[in-house]
Amino acid sequence: KKKGGNAYSFYEPTLQTLLENHIELEIDIVRAIAADEFCTYFQPKTCALGYVVGAEALIRWNHPTKGLIVPADFIAIAEQYGLIQALQNIVLRDVCILIEQLTASHVIDDTFNVSINISQCQFNSAKLKTELLTTLNDFSISTSQIKLEITESMLSGDIDNAIQQMQELKEDGFILSIDDFGTGYSCLTHLSAFPVKELKIDKSFIDNVLDDEAGKSIVNTIISLAKSLNIPVVAEGVESLAQLEALKAMNIDSIQGYLIAKPMMKDDYVKWHKHNLLQRSLSA
Ligand code: C2E
Ligand code: MG
Ligand code: MG
Ligand code: MG
Repeated sequence: KKKGGNAYSFYEPTLQTLLENHIELEIDIVRAIAADEFCTYFQPKTCALGYVVGAEALIRWNHPTKGLIVPADFIAIAEQYGLIQALQNIVLRDVCILIEQLTASHVIDDTFNVSINISQCQFNSAKLKTELLTTLNDFSISTSQIKLEITESMLSGDIDNAIQQMQELKEDGFILSIDDFGTGYSCLTHLSAFPVKELKIDKSFIDNVLDDEAGKSIVNTIISLAKSLNIPVVAEGVESLAQLEALKAMNIDSIQGYLIAKPMMKDDYVKWHKHNLLQRSLSA
């Protein structure tokens, strides 16, 4: 209208369409929650020798017409429309069911933990702890069996608040991990102030570890830094044996990636886990 008359603006319809698409997706997520279409996949995390030390829960959407949808296609909208906590509750519930099943099968003890990914808006919310504890209440598992992955980029804003939130979660027994390390802009001097028990090097750095000296040196430096602070380091997205060998030479603590296993549905994960334990005892 500012342009007067019937002037046509190219941007308005595009934005309009974008908004409509977002709202459509939001409505579909609400429907899908009620229809029980979200499910949790699990990807193992192993020591450098390939033996399981933990697992990460990764949400998937089993869409009736679109097939399996990955988080990149719906998490941001769920965050934007206040639906992320509902999805998180589904994931945490699935994690508890897995832990109870593995415990009942005597293939884990209470030192084994499963990671869940926490969104920025949840991390900022004062209700996060209560939400997590409410779900855990329905199960006989302890907070120390749940690891909370917080991305490095969430730790670059209000540091004092972030440390306070982490401290409170830690006091309740939750284990904290920094995800996608290297991609955020957290101040390295704060790393020692974060009450974390794990640091995950982002896949983008692992992708470059064999490229040249610089790629290698960055990963090596992150590992040394974490080690000097007594924080165990995980390499995410390890896809080749050559990468694994390079990481082993740098004293990596654990690895996660397609080389070991892709994320799996619960029953496949349980089978994988048991088989992995068998391999360990056969080689011992
Ligand atoms: P993330 O936490 O960094 O998870 C690692 C991602 O890398 C996962 O993708 C995993 O499937 C993938 N991945 C693991 N190993 C390999 C590999 O060797 N090669 C390749 N190419 N990819 C590998 P996914 O499951 O699509 O999840 C993407 C992101 O979505 C996650 O990144 C996390 O930030 C977010 N996300 C997943 N589940 C949840 C959830 O329940 N809640 C929240 N808030 N975010 C979630
Ligand atoms: Mg993660
Ligand atoms: Mg990650
Ligand atoms: Mg990542």
